[in-house]
Amino acid sequence: MKHLILLLSVFVLAFHNNRGDHAAAPAPGAENKPLNVILMIGDGMGMAQVTAGLYANGGRLNLEQFPITGLMKTHSAKNLITDSAAGATAFSCGCKTYNGAIGMTAAKKPCPTILEQAEALGLATGLVATSSLTHATPASFIGHATDRQFAEEIATYFLKTNIDLAIGGGMKYFNHRKTDTRDLYAELQTKGYTMSNFAEKTFEQAMLSLSPEQPFFWFASNEEPASVEEGRNYLPIAARMAPTFLSQRSDKGFFLMIEGSQIDWACHANKGDKAVQEMIDFDEAIGEVLKFAEKDGNTLVIVTADHETGGLALLRGEDKESLSLKFTTDYHTASLVPVFAYGPGAELFSGLIDNTDIYVKMRELLRFPAIEAK
Ligand code: MG
Ligand code: ZN
Repeated sequence: MKHLILLLSVFVLAFHNNRGDHAAAPAPGAENKPLNVILMIGDGMGMAQVTAGLYANGGRLNLEQFPITGLMKTHSAKNLITDSAAGATAFSCGCKTYNGAIGMTAAKKPCPTILEQAEALGLATGLVATSSLTHATPASFIGHATDRQFAEEIATYFLKTNIDLAIGGGMKYFNHRKTDTRDLYAELQTKGYTMSNFAEKTFEQAMLSLSPEQPFFWFASNEEPASVEEGRNYLPIAARMAPTFLSQRSDKGFFLMIEGSQIDWACHANKGDKAVQEMIDFDEAIGEVLKFAEKDGNTLVIVTADHETGGLALLRGEDKESLSLKFTTDYHTASLVPVFAYGPGAELFSGLIDNTDIYVKMRELLRFPAIEAK
């Protein structure tokens, strides 16, 4: 019964826009608009993934600190079931596009991303992921490609903006390229980046050479980073350092995207334990970001998902205290996903919204002008 009540309260939280006792303090700026925006994407993180993580973590998650919750539609231009590329492009550009599109409209025109806009207007920018940096979700913020498979093409976009911070895997797409002879790692170094990677330093060691004077890159792996189960631990640490670092890089504010990439992968593989570990790791990162936002008072934090993965159902377990995780598919589903918001402007993210609204609301809150795709 206790579990049922707890479970019901999860849904009550989601369906009513609850203003809890952690309500955000008003921002010092005009019109309650944030200086900084941190968008956190749990890839494949539906309600069931959140719920499973919550009970596996002793009934608590940092997500409970958010005063504003909402629900979001995730469909892409032509598919009720989106992929992560179209899902992330809805967040980064505000347009519904075809599955597989990276920062491209449905008409295959590059759409200006929120990260590119932020960079052009003098804000600091960052991407942190537990996938390769060229994988669909981070890729859709930095680059433009007609297909998510073009990882080497996507990597070149890291040299086209002046992104301040990038943390993730996929180093081979930068320095062991098959489509050309460029060494983007060396090029970034020449451009002034503090470059480091897993082969020479752990993330903690790499942070020792961190200086706000220089933009920073750290590669977690050549290909895709390890899972939590395999020992990956950099996401919460990166979530702790990134906001402070970016706030030192520009007084105009920053835009940061942090992705818990592997909740999705665990659910594709129908591995419930793994999905829960990835969910809890992502929630730890959320806790670190909230600590910054609470102290700063000028930062909007949005946590959401591009889609649900696995059609996860939480069934009665072996005893009253346990759940049995059952997947109904190895692909994504069309379920609405949760949205959590904290900080100046958070109230705009309540209700039942569309994935493209995330972009529109972020852009308006950051006072960026609307731009058309070229
Ligand atoms: Mg992803
Ligand atoms: Zn997926």
